[in-house]
Amino acid sequence: MVGVKEVAENIYMIDDNLYSIPEFGSVYLINEEKKALIDTGPTPSANVVLDGIKETGVSPADIDYLIVTHIHLDHAGGAGFLIRDMPKAQAVVHNRGARHLIDPTRLVSSAMAAQDRVDEGLVKETEVVPIAAERVKSVYDGDTIRLGERQTLRIIDAPGHAPHELCIHESRNNGLFTGDAAGICVGAHKALIMVNAPPSFDLELSLTTVKKLMEIQPSRLYYAHFDVADDAEQKLRWALDTLNLWDDITSQAVKYNRFNEAEERLMAQAYDTLEPIRGEWPLVYEYMAKHDVPMSIGGFLKYYRDKHGMN
Ligand SMILES: [Zn+2]
Repeated sequence: MVGVKEVAENIYMIDDNLYSIPEFGSVYLINEEKKALIDTGPTPSANVVLDGIKETGVSPADIDYLIVTHIHLDHAGGAGFLIRDMPKAQAVVHNRGARHLIDPTRLVSSAMAAQDRVDEGLVKETEVVPIAAERVKSVYDGDTIRLGERQTLRIIDAPGHAPHELCIHESRNNGLFTGDAAGICVGAHKALIMVNAPPSFDLELSLTTVKKLMEIQPSRLYYAHFDVADDAEQKLRWALDTLNLWDDITSQAVKYNRFNEAEERLMAQAYDTLEPIRGEWPLVYEYMAKHDVPMSIGGFLKYYRDKHGMN
């Protein structure tokens, strides 16, 4: 039994059991005249996603679009596997990410390099199936995809977390699929971490993106990690505040020539943020504390070092 629920009119969330952790990864199905899946999860989640789609009463063969918010493996790694069961589907991806869906070699090797773990889970995650070029559709900021009379998706270029990230606005419920652009917001939205993934995290771009999302004034956010939040404005403000706080901490450290202290202070801030979910969501907590927090701090400090010519 897969965790599936209707989260808005004609939109279903499937818990893809990311890294075998419940309530950590969301894939969304939009069920209109035409049908779209938003993100796919990694390859090890593919069968869970297929079962989830069937549970909503939709056949995978009826999916028209497989839209990925960005090409990181936890979002798009399973696309090539899934699309084999979706004969009419097109894979829709940011124009900067398209070539990596067609030839995932570099994507996989950089994922391996970015991770300090080479455990069984990662090996399975990196079993990425290439997608034939003619089935991959590159999209740009402002492009639209009409799914039905009342449902049109609009692509929003959303760099910062990654240069190949996009967000998707859906017109029926005025909701926004945020990928990782507005952070990871987990444990019933009690904790929010901005994932400043190296090597391409860019603070300026990330701030601009969150502000751009605020201007859209969405009614809800569909997080990739995890679930739907109805207080979109507040959540986007939280993302912005977190980026600014990290910037302040790091700027201060640089100003007083204590760059090494920044790492410690960012770590403390991140652990404070995660504390409210530690008891009830121990697996999510543990994964984030072990992987996302150090990665985020690494990416943030790298950005700062590069910007100020430090090493
Ligand atoms: Zn992610």
